[in-house]
Amino acid sequence: MDDLPPIPFGRPMLGQEEREAVLSVLDGPQLVHGPVAAQFETEFAERAQTEFAITVSSCTAGLYLGLLTHGVGPGDEVIVPAMTHVATAHSVELLGAKPVFADVSPESGNIDPAAVKAAVTERTRAIIVVHYLGLPCDMDAIRPIAKAAGALLIEDAALALDASYDGVKVGGLADLASFSFYPVKHMTSAEGGMVTSNNEGISNLVRRQKAFGYDRSLGERTKPGIYDVTLLGNNLRMSEIHAAIGLAQLRKLDAMQAARAENFARIAAGLADVEELTIFPRQLGKAESSHYCLNLNLPRDGSLERDDVVGALKAAGIGTSVHYPSAVSQFSYYREKYGYKPGDFPVAEWIGAQAISLPVGPHLAAGDPDRIVSAVKNAVSHAKSRT
Ligand SMILES: *Cc1c(COP(=O)(O)O)cnc(C)c1O
Repeated sequence: MDDLPPIPFGRPMLGQEEREAVLSVLDGPQLVHGPVAAQFETEFAERAQTEFAITVSSCTAGLYLGLLTHGVGPGDEVIVPAMTHVATAHSVELLGAKPVFADVSPESGNIDPAAVKAAVTERTRAIIVVHYLGLPCDMDAIRPIAKAAGALLIEDAALALDASYDGVKVGGLADLASFSFYPVKHMTSAEGGMVTSNNEGISNLVRRQKAFGYDRSLGERTKPGIYDVTLLGNNLRMSEIHAAIGLAQLRKLDAMQAARAENFARIAAGLADVEELTIFPRQLGKAESSHYCLNLNLPRDGSLERDDVVGALKAAGIGTSVHYPSAVSQFSYYREKYGYKPGDFPVAEWIGAQAISLPVGPHLAAGDPDRIVSAVKNAVSHAKSRT
C-alpha cells in the first residue's frame, strides 16, 4: 500500500547495554546464584517500591510459587478472572487446585468485585487479580473480600509494571505480585519474571521453593556443598544471563515507559471521534495504567467484524494482537474438564471475541502513532463497507 516499514505489535528494545551485560556474565565464573540476579532484585524492588523482589524463571512460575507459599493444593479453590492469559489459571491447576472463574467488567476488562464475592466458598484459599492491559483492579473493593475469606491475594502484574493504584505501585498492592519479562512485555529478560512482596515470610518461602527447598542459598553455606532440605521445592530460578538482560532493560525503563504513555495518549486522542470504537481507559478511579497496549472494542451490535478490521490493518502494515483470544473457561482444556458453556462469562467472552490490541511500545517511530490512527480509521470504513 505504501513503502513504510511494517509496525509490529511489539519488539524488544535490545542494544549495546544488553549485549555487553551478557558478555560480561559469560566472561565471569558464575551463571546462576550470582551477583547480577541479586542486583536486579535490589533495583527492581526500588522501582516497584516493595521491600522484597525475587527473580524467577517466568511470571507463571511466580504465580505458582506464590500459591505454593500458602499451601494451595487439591481440594482448594482459587478465584481468577475469566479474561486473562491462560497462565493465571494454569498456575492454580498445576498445584492440583481448582481455578474458579469470575467475570470481568465491561468498562475495563478487570475482574468484577461483585463476581469475586459471589465466587467465594469455604474452599477459597486465594484470589489472583490481573491488572488487565496494565490498568490496576479495584483493590479497595477486592481486599476486604480476600480478607473476609481468609484468602491470599496475588497480583498477576505481567502487563502492569509501573502502574499504580491510589498512589501505590503495582507489586505492593496485595500479599505478593508476579511480573513477566517475556519479550513483548514492558521489559524483557528473554524469559523471566519477578515476585515482589512486602511480606518477609512469603518472600523467604518463594526464595526457598524456587530452589529445591534448600534451607540456605549458595552464598549462605558455611561448608561448601552442605545444605539441608526442609521443604518441597522446584527449580524456577533465573540465570545470570537472563538477569543481565533484565537489569540492563530496567536501567532503560524510564525512556521506554515514557514512549508508551505518549504513544497511547496520541493514538487514543486520534481515535476519540470514531464513534464505532470504545477504548478501555488509561485512568479509572484510583487506578493509573502502565499503558501496556491500547485496546479497541468493536460495536456491541456486531456491525464490524474483527477479521475485517485486523486484515485491513495488516494490509496497511500495522501489527495487532488479541488479549486474549478466548475467555479461559472456553479453552478446550477448561471447557472439557469443568463443563463450562458459552455464556457462562459473557463479558470475558465478548472481549475475547472482538477486542483488538494496538501497539504503543517504544519501538514505534515518531510518525507511527498518526499512521496507526489513520490506518484504524480506514480499516473501520473498509470493514463497514463489507457488512
Ligand atoms: C504474559 C502473561 C503471563 C505469562 O507470563 P510468562 O512470563 O510468560 O510466564 C501471565 N499473565 C498475564 C496476564 C500475561 O499477560
